[in-house]
Amino acid sequence: MSLNKTNTNKALTIIGGGLAGCEAAWRAATLGLKVKLWEMKPQKYSPAHSNPDLAELVCSNSLRAEDSSNAVGLLKEELTLLGSIVMEAALAHRVSAGRALAVDRVAFSRYITEKVESHPNIEVIRQEFRPPLIDQGPLIVACGPLATDEVTSDLAQITGSDHLNFYDALAPIVEDDSLDKSKLFLADRYGPPEEGDYLNAPFTQNELNLFIAALLEADRARARPFEEEKYFEGCLPIEVMAQRGVKTLCFGPMKPVGLIDPKSGRRPAAIVQLRRENAHGSHWNIVGFQTRLTIPAQEKVFRLIPGLEKVKFARYGAIHRNTYLVAPKVLDDFQCLVKAPDIFIAGQLSGVEGYVESAAQGLWAGENAARRLLGLAMVQAPPETALGSLVGRLTKKVKEVTFCPSNVNFGLFPPVDPQVPKKDQAAFRLERARKAWPSFLKDINYAR
Ligand SMILES: Cc1cc2nc3c(=O)[nH]c(=O)nc-3n(C[C@H](O)[C@H](O)[C@H](O)COP(=O)(O)OP(=O)(O)OC[C@H]3O[C@@H](n4cnc5c(N)ncnc54)[C@H](O)[C@@H]3O)c2cc1C
Repeated sequence: MSLNKTNTNKALTIIGGGLAGCEAAWRAATLGLKVKLWEMKPQKYSPAHSNPDLAELVCSNSLRAEDSSNAVGLLKEELTLLGSIVMEAALAHRVSAGRALAVDRVAFSRYITEKVESHPNIEVIRQEFRPPLIDQGPLIVACGPLATDEVTSDLAQITGSDHLNFYDALAPIVEDDSLDKSKLFLADRYGPPEEGDYLNAPFTQNELNLFIAALLEADRARARPFEEEKYFEGCLPIEVMAQRGVKTLCFGPMKPVGLIDPKSGRRPAAIVQLRRENAHGSHWNIVGFQTRLTIPAQEKVFRLIPGLEKVKFARYGAIHRNTYLVAPKVLDDFQCLVKAPDIFIAGQLSGVEGYVESAAQGLWAGENAARRLLGLAMVQAPPETALGSLVGRLTKKVKEVTFCPSNVNFGLFPPVDPQVPKKDQAAFRLERARKAWPSFLKDINYAR
């Protein structure tokens, strides 16, 4: 059965004409639904937006790596396959940027605005949407990380306020292959030696002094005016803790108590702990190392941690204003609120991080919201693909200590058979993802 592009007069409401909202609108309109897309600009701007057009890139003009052997490159390849309007605009307005896909941001947003506004199935309503969100019929909320206060408080009321966060405090994630394990030891605090879930990097006093000196000198990313440097005491940036003195670090995230270095048989001067980021241990989180250091400063300073001299970062640390839902607690398998199944959540608000990720998750929310309205079964993207891994993470009922928004990275993908040699794993993952799409799209009758 093919989806009939003219057979419905049902309408879908989408709030927010950012990257996710535009992708969702484009997708649903392609499937023949009437879409009402609410965008509050130019009547009202968030503190980060300034261009009246839709799909504004609020900061960098880069959609990151283009090479498909990189997870975000693969996600872009998948978006193109799925008929993404964001990718169409990016390829039409790219500017040269080495191996990254960067765009002329003004032309990029103009292109999407013209396409969306002239689509016969889409009506763009240039007005702030005011809650209630409930009882409006099927609806996609794609208001982004700086959603209006009214929308966020309505969401908090529906989901419970402890399931909505307003700041990201992201610790870096590093690749297992890049660690020098000869300098690290496995142990849990007070647990038996050489057993446990944590990898520990032990410091001598001299190494600790050098590390703290570098941390104090390192460059920090400047806070934007709407991101005053107000931190939760329980979640201070590592460099702020260093400023308060060595004791703050050594009684905090670098606390060595309960850990004996098997090599020296003694308690080290300090410890950095790495926690598994996924079940197969391909990526590790540097525990408690949320930071505002710039990316070059993170590369320089965190490589002073013993065993991390050549570390590769899958995600850098960050702290920024970012409203997002604790997705695994509140979303069902199709990114609808468990407590209000008519409400789909799209984009950064759903717990993904990044332009490309927001667009991708928005496209899939558009697909499923349209399917729901058309009376078709909703669908989950194949788990071995970049999109399936990214979206699957939002609803995976894993025992995560904390849920933080994440960029797409290979740590989210299903493990690769250990028989596959390390040097071939990236190619294996790529081929596995590429193979999964054709039959899946055929089975679900994916319309373009
Ligand atoms: C300051 C900042 C900088 C960032 N920089 C980058 C970066 O450089 N690279 C990167 O990959 N990611 C970055 N991100 C993260 C993220 O990728 C972007 O925020 C991305 O734009 C999210 O897409 P979105 O569609 O979810 O939200 P947005 O693109 O923010 O779109 C949301 C839209 O909803 C509208 N809206 C909100 N509330 C309402 C309402 N009640 N009624 C009607 N309209 C409403 C807004 O005006 C906006 O147009 C940044 C985030 C922030 C906050």
